Amino acid sequence: MNPAGLPDPAIPDPARAPWLIKGVTVTRSGGQREEFTDILLSDGVIAAIGPGLSNPGAHVLDAQGLIALPGLVDLHTHLREPGREDAETVETGTRAAALGGYTAVHAMANTDPVADTAGVVEQVWRLGRAAGHCDVQPVGAVTVGLAGSRLAELGTMADSAARVRVFSDDGNCVADPLLMRRALEYVKAFDGVIAQHAQEPRLTEGAQLNEGEMSSRLGLAGWPAVAEEAIIARDCLLAAHVGSALHVCHVSTAGSVEIIRWAKSKGWRVTAEVTPHHLLLTDELAAGYDPVFKVNPPLRTAADVAELRRALADGTIDCVATDHAPHPVEAKETEWSEAAFGMTGLETALRVVQLAMVDTGMLDWCGVADRMSVRPARIGRLAGHGALPAVGGPANLTLYDPAASAEVVGPGASKSRNTPFAGMELPGRVVATFLRGAPTVLDGKLA
Ligand SMILES: [Zn+2]
Repeated sequence: MNPAGLPDPAIPDPARAPWLIKGVTVTRSGGQREEFTDILLSDGVIAAIGPGLSNPGAHVLDAQGLIALPGLVDLHTHLREPGREDAETVETGTRAAALGGYTAVHAMANTDPVADTAGVVEQVWRLGRAAGHCDVQPVGAVTVGLAGSRLAELGTMADSAARVRVFSDDGNCVADPLLMRRALEYVKAFDGVIAQHAQEPRLTEGAQLNEGEMSSRLGLAGWPAVAEEAIIARDCLLAAHVGSALHVCHVSTAGSVEIIRWAKSKGWRVTAEVTPHHLLLTDELAAGYDPVFKVNPPLRTAADVAELRRALADGTIDCVATDHAPHPVEAKETEWSEAAFGMTGLETALRVVQLAMVDTGMLDWCGVADRMSVRPARIGRLAGHGALPAVGGPANLTLYDPAASAEVVGPGASKSRNTPFAGMELPGRVVATFLRGAPTVLDGKLA
């Protein structure tokens, strides 16, 4: 500040001044990969890409060894606000998102009150804008109160300031086939999509863990794969019948993959996501009855994990979505059967994907950009996100160091700490995140 209290023009305003990222590796729109190149961010867009750039007024970030990815987009985040601010708020959840390299998240509707009206989705959308760490795109409920009996006002949510395009009763399955059909028909008018939490309720009453060898050994009520697969098969057929778009949340079984592959081969409008935890963890982790491994859908077998990885690699599963599900300590640190379902995931997702997919040779970084940014943005009908770096494109970027490695230690930025990865050595580090040209994360910390 100069004596008059005005910003000194020689000191760039971090929010407004250009940023010059030097020596980064980038996969550009069109697919060509460039190493040791520079990226200039100015006025919210990528102003230039190429070696040897300079800009006297810009902040300079030495990015040697780092990869520039388009800002990550999560299709499946539980931010818990309104109603469960003891578990997470829009502020804390979006901080966690930014630290994980995300520039946009879709906030699930199972809040209290439920996001089933224009009023609630607009409230969540405004809270996201006020927090400013990443864009928050509300998901609207399919049925009133997630109760599964009456369609919510999908059209008014679509027309609201939040411009909702993804609808889901996530946490609950839209089990009634007629309601599911009506919902799929309704959203066609505005190119919406129904995101189904595929869980046949009668087949999963009291279910605790994947039905199989582990559930019998541990004496926990089994959660059969068919409870997921039956709903996915039904909904693929319904989507085809009415010509609408279905998105399948958190696919967890090899059989589900087979059904989705078949539906896609028919040209039906079906997309799917997998969580980082289902790409890495198996039901054997439940052996110690630690509820940190209790999640919906449950962790499955090593054979399922292998098939989920193959499906993400070949594109049958379109994207990675975190299903970040924060819970307060008292809801998780209790007996297995009493504990809440869910794991946090925003801060570790990219690192888990590196371990499961990149370090195993199944996906390159261009593939990661596609599965964690390009495709989720497309499925979520999200403008301004999910574009590979291109001159004139949005300056939403994640700078990532794949050579780093560290143990996951808490607490992170999330208000909850129910991460199954605590104490685990994971590769990689999110070094910086830029949202419309302004840093939300620098040197691995909130900017
Ligand atoms: Zn779910």
